[in-house]
Amino acid sequence: MKLADRIRRMKIEGTADNWTCLCGNTGLADGFYPCDSEGQMVEPTPEEWATNWYVCNRCGRIIDRKTMEVKGVRFNNTLSTDELVELYPNG
Ligand SMILES: [Zn+2]
Repeated sequence: MKLADRIRRMKIEGTADNWTCLCGNTGLADGFYPCDSEGQMVEPTPEEWATNWYVCNRCGRIIDRKTMEVKGVRFNNTLSTDELVELYPNG
């Protein structure tokens, strides 16, 4: 796979109101939850939810809903080693 394709794969498809994670999860399936920068679920309050990020409850990807980009992955995730290398190319 070409590098450009690999990078594009990190972007979530959809709009701000109707989106599908790269793993196939949707808000109506396993859902997405407000999380911190580590992917830990938080209460969606300004105090606890400074990131404005969501975590996919199926695969563990952490998603910035504003840009629909994958920002990382929580510790408890289902990504393959190759997918993790794409997200963290520098380790
Ligand atoms: Zn997912």
